[in-house]
Amino acid sequence: MNLVNDAFLEIANSIENKYIKFWQDSDKKVIGYYCTYIPEELIHAAGILPYRVRATGHDTTELGDILMVRFTCSFVRASLDLALRGGFDFFDGFLICNSCDHSRRMYELFDMKVFNREGFNKKVPRFYISVPHIISEEGFGWFKQEVEELKEELENAYGVKITDSNLKNSISVYNENRKLLREIHKIRILDNPKLTGADALQISVANTSVPKEVANQELKKILTKLKASEGIKNHKKRIMVVGSLIDDLNFINLIENTGGLVVSDFLCFGTRNFVDDVETNGNPLEKITKRTYFRMSCPRMMDDHENRLKFLKKEIDSAKIDGVILQRINNCDLHGCDNMLFEHDLKDLEIPAMNIDREYVQADLNRLQTRIEAFLEMI
Ligand code: SF4
Repeated sequence: MNLVNDAFLEIANSIENKYIKFWQDSDKKVIGYYCTYIPEELIHAAGILPYRVRATGHDTTELGDILMVRFTCSFVRASLDLALRGGFDFFDGFLICNSCDHSRRMYELFDMKVFNREGFNKKVPRFYISVPHIISEEGFGWFKQEVEELKEELENAYGVKITDSNLKNSISVYNENRKLLREIHKIRILDNPKLTGADALQISVANTSVPKEVANQELKKILTKLKASEGIKNHKKRIMVVGSLIDDLNFINLIENTGGLVVSDFLCFGTRNFVDDVETNGNPLEKITKRTYFRMSCPRMMDDHENRLKFLKKEIDSAKIDGVILQRINNCDLHGCDNMLFEHDLKDLEIPAMNIDREYVQADLNRLQTRIEAFLEMI
């Protein structure tokens, strides 16, 4: 299935990688974070590598279940489980925002149970920023203050000075990164797509796990290779996947091995990340904050469903989508509510859609496969 066949994509299959090792061997720091509303450019401008927490390939929540009730999302429990087993001991800092109530709890749990566990003696500074749940000018003012305080905290914790010139450089590196991802997306939605949904996900996940300067070089190479490729000719049902976090290939492979081709998505590790750029004029910290707050939203922004629907409709049109798979991890209320609204919206628009619940640690593949097969046959 893999068209890109690139070593860079392998990074998506593991938590650590050689670039992180090289980075830390050069005495540089890594900050792990949950999740969408973190101003990554600010961390980058401090000379620190921001690493989005994921639990790719981790197949148990056993230890996480001891500390979190079973009606929290299994992604959060799996990532906590991995942390309790030392999977994130390479972090030199930890940053949380109140994206959702489930991931929000990770601040205290990492604080008390992960970084304070017996035998773990590394000092890991913890940071927290609060993000309003609605998009308004007042909310922006609040968030701006939070980000300004975070800047100071980072400077104090790591003994660095984050200058405007550092911030401007980070904006340009991150804007270039998003531009490259958009170019890859453009050739993903062609009539003969140049890459599969599995390739696209791996590119996107690997992109969050290495310094952006490395990622930009690798994305350019991938783009050149993909542009020269023939593309996928055998016609399959063109699917868009929407909803809760997906950071491994199981679910996408299930669709693509069942006769669908995932040509677009609306996911945390996906299109949502590269829609908006940071403006390059004016105060750089304010512009970074603006992009982070007003970006293509995650359903935790309660009053922005209309914008998300607008994006969905536009994407269905430009990617010539035959059907939409709305999925959520059990107990993920945010995506559960948004998916339910999308289901009604898409029904009104007569666009085929299915809405399913799943677990992060995929145990019920047969049940899901049967439902996906039936959906693909139906469209
Ligand atoms: S999948 Fe849903 S519940 Fe889980 S971390 Fe993401 S938003 Fe929160």
